This record gives sequence, structure tokens and C-alpha cells, in this order.
Amino acid sequence: MTFAAKILTLYPEMFPGPLGVSLAGRALAEGTWSCETVQIRDFAEDRHRTVDDTPAGGGAGMVLKVDVLARAIDAAREHQPECPVIAMTPRGKPISQARIRELAAGPGVILVCGRFEGFDERIFAGRDVEEVSVGDIVLSGGECAALMVLDACIRLLPGVMGAAHSGFEESFENGLLEYPQFTRPVEWEGHAIPEVLRSGDHGRIADWRKRQSEADTRLRRPDLWERHEGARVQPASGARRKDEGK
Ligand code: SAH
Repeated sequence: MTFAAKILTLYPEMFPGPLGVSLAGRALAEGTWSCETVQIRDFAEDRHRTVDDTPAGGGAGMVLKVDVLARAIDAAREHQPECPVIAMTPRGKPISQARIRELAAGPGVILVCGRFEGFDERIFAGRDVEEVSVGDIVLSGGECAALMVLDACIRLLPGVMGAAHSGFEESFENGLLEYPQFTRPVEWEGHAIPEVLRSGDHGRIADWRKRQSEADTRLRRPDLWERHEGARVQPASGARRKDEGK
């Protein structure tokens, strides 16, 4: 089955862009995923094909018009009713590897890229659109964010990555950062590869990696660590609810 990506944008020439090379590019050529762009401007109805207007209440920049966006989204959804519509916005929920996995397991996505000061907020009241952020940074447009989301999905599609299992050992898959990696030369500018990794003792290696992964997460990402520890200490929410009923 082909994972269908549809991107609503004012800059369709940005796609597939970097996703046309390497693993994603080969998968695109093989039909593992498809990439279709929709020019938002085609849904403007005035003579000047206007897509934006000044912010209500004043302030700098321009805001994407809700009526134009709604027509573009409705048209996209008509052809792919089973795909979630996701708007790229720094006001959205931070994207997670768990959500990426869900998306990659589905039929595809319809991604909406903002520009200027972003979307007229009423689009989220009037249409079923998920708001997603790729991090606490501000981009000039949603296109790079959409490329990130797509890249993360595509590498999980069946057959895209070399070793089928390699995706499951990575950072975030178990709520932790991955352990550090090394490769030859064994010695570089006085820095040696940790002895345990050269020992051939798979039990010791697995144990070392687990401890490194936990220590690095605790140090570098206390937010992830807290969630990880919280999930371990507390019973699952379903179990807790059952206990409360007693
Ligand atoms: N004025 C807005 C920022 C607009 S940036 C604000 O302060 O919230 C222009 C567009 O870039 C946005 O509409 C969005 O589509 C995209 N964008 C910028 N930063 C993003 C982020 N962190 N995640 C996802 N999309 C982002």
C-alpha cells in the first residue's frame, strides 16, 4: 500500500525536495509513498488570488485567510477522506515518535503549511485539523516542518530501512535517548572506543548500552526522564482507575 502524502502549500516547488534523494527518494520512486502538492493560492477566488490579509487588531505581518484555507482543505480531504489533516504551527502539540508511528501505520497525511504570521485561528474551530509543532523554534514557513514529519514517517514504512528492526532501538522509541555509537578506528586522537563494546560479550554490551541510555537521558533530557520514571513507578492509568473503584 502506498503512503499518500498531500501537502497544502504556497511553495509546491519545495517538495519532494530533500525527500527526493537517499532512502526516501528511492521509496518514492518505488511507489512506497506518493507526494502530491496542492497550491493553496488556487483556492483564492478574487482577481488577485489573495491568500492573506492584515491581522485583526493590528500588528506586523499577514494572516492566511480562513475561507481560502477551508476550500483547499475540503478539496484535499474529498480525495483522501481517511487521512488526518495536520497543520504545521508552533502553537501545536509537539510531534512525538509515538504519533509518527501512528501516522506511518495509516494511509497517509494531509499537511497544511503556514506562512507569514500563520493561520486564521477559526480554521481550527471550523475544520477537524490537528495542530502540530516540530519544536520550540520559529520557522519562516511550514514546509520544512512538513518535510521533517514526512521524513520521520517514510523511514518507518515497510521496506524503506535496511534492517527491518533498526527503527525500534532508536532514540525515543522506548522513551529514552539512544546509547552512544562508535565505529573504527578503535583509537582516535587518544580517544578509544569503550572496551566493553570490543569485548564481544553481548550480555555486557546490552547492559552497558541500557545504563548509558538511562544516564544520558537523565542528564540531557530531564523532561523525558521524568516521564519515563513516572510511567515506570505509576501503574497504567487503566489499572489505577480499577484500583480507585475498590
Ligand atoms: N506568528 C506565528 C509564527 C508564524 S511562522 C507564531 O508566533 O506562532 C510561519 C509558519 O511557519 C507557521 O504558520 C507554521 O506553518 C510554520 N512554523 C513555524 N514554526 C513552526 C514550528 N515550530 N512547527 C511547525 N510549524 C512551524
